[in-house]
Amino acid sequence: MSHIIHRSLRHTPALAVGARGMHVFDSDGKAYLDASGGAAVSSLGHAHPHVLAAMQRQIAQLAYAHNGFFSSAPAEALAERLAADAPGDLDAVYLVSGGSEAVETAMKLARQYAVESGQGERGVFIARRQSYHGNTLGALALGGNAWRRQPFAPLLIDVPHVAPCYEYRGRAPGQSQDDYTAALLAELEAAIVAAGPHRVLGFCAETVVGATAGAVPPTPGYFKGVRALCDKYGLLLMIDEVMCGMGRCGSLYAIEQEGVLPDLVALGKGLGAGYQPVGAVLARRHIVARLREGSGAFQHGHTYTAHPVAAAAALAVQEVLAGERLVEAAAQRGASLMARLRAAFGAHPHVGDIRGRGLLLGIELVRERDGKQPFEPELKLHAAVKECALARGLMVYPMGGTVDGRRGDHILLAPPFIASEADLSEIVSRLEDAL
Ligand code: PMP
Repeated sequence: MSHIIHRSLRHTPALAVGARGMHVFDSDGKAYLDASGGAAVSSLGHAHPHVLAAMQRQIAQLAYAHNGFFSSAPAEALAERLAADAPGDLDAVYLVSGGSEAVETAMKLARQYAVESGQGERGVFIARRQSYHGNTLGALALGGNAWRRQPFAPLLIDVPHVAPCYEYRGRAPGQSQDDYTAALLAELEAAIVAAGPHRVLGFCAETVVGATAGAVPPTPGYFKGVRALCDKYGLLLMIDEVMCGMGRCGSLYAIEQEGVLPDLVALGKGLGAGYQPVGAVLARRHIVARLREGSGAFQHGHTYTAHPVAAAAALAVQEVLAGERLVEAAAQRGASLMARLRAAFGAHPHVGDIRGRGLLLGIELVRERDGKQPFEPELKLHAAVKECALARGLMVYPMGGTVDGRRGDHILLAPPFIASEADLSEIVSRLEDAL
């Protein structure tokens, strides 16, 4: 029996002992083709020499400096780089250790900004159903996924949830895409009005919904409409790009494709690409300026905030993304994988929908295509698919609760951007076999 508390308290997973490029190896010497990037993390593949060298140099020179005493060269350089490449004036960067911490930090930045702006009554966040923003209590409350919330309910903060963009099930037969989008925005506006507009602090959403809904992209104009509502009622727009950002959707930030500028952006996963736990919040200039002119401090911090080795790793990741043109590769490989999935599964009796953007792709499984009826949740079909894929040496990221947080199954594919056409072909053929 393992002494570690694993996710499953009944089964100990296989031991991973190594990883290189597109593959992870277990202690029996079995190779797994990484079609999930872990959980949409390993965007550069495993053991990239440029990142390893940067980390080795940094750990030998300065492994740790507490941010209460010092800044460090890699932290400064990473923040400068992120600020330079981010859209608009999203040029203030707070470095943390992962996605949940980034979301919590963004929530606290927003809250302190409201208080110091004389709008202390603004405390409510509105978010969306079928969303995931992290597992710490604040981020868990933002997330709208029913089965994740249920063991901990009632959660500490009360978050109204509205419908996400989910055309496959949300858009009625005969309803135009524009009418569907307008209905989603009307629901959001009604939620703002119901909560009392002067009490609402912000709206939080993933640009492309990742793990909980299976790579659901926004409808055209949706985020423009969201931005307009935020402006109308004085809300901050907080975008969670922990999964969909850092090139995964074919642009450095997925929100760039929507043509709107958010006030806060949370990053994680692909920022460190698995080499180090690291996350970040990008904030627009005016938010930090308010705190700078006001109390002069952000009342927040973690022991590993702006960790030098994590920053060095994330900076090296940015260098590889640019140097090897991997964001463009994610767009191009994503289109290729999507075409391959449509060819292989477009007529599969249990595949209801194939969707996504860049190299964040999802396949929704249904009992039968015409009625879009999901499988019974007790079957835990997604977990079975994962096991069947692992048995065939393939890592995919399946999830349940797709439809309403309880029913529904999907498979998420999020391979490293270095995947070759041969790798994509292998992913699809092993997945066909597993399904
Ligand atoms: N937001 C999103 C969109 C995520 O996908 C995740 C992780 N799955 C998180 C936040 C939380 O990140 P972490 O697990 O690093 O805390």
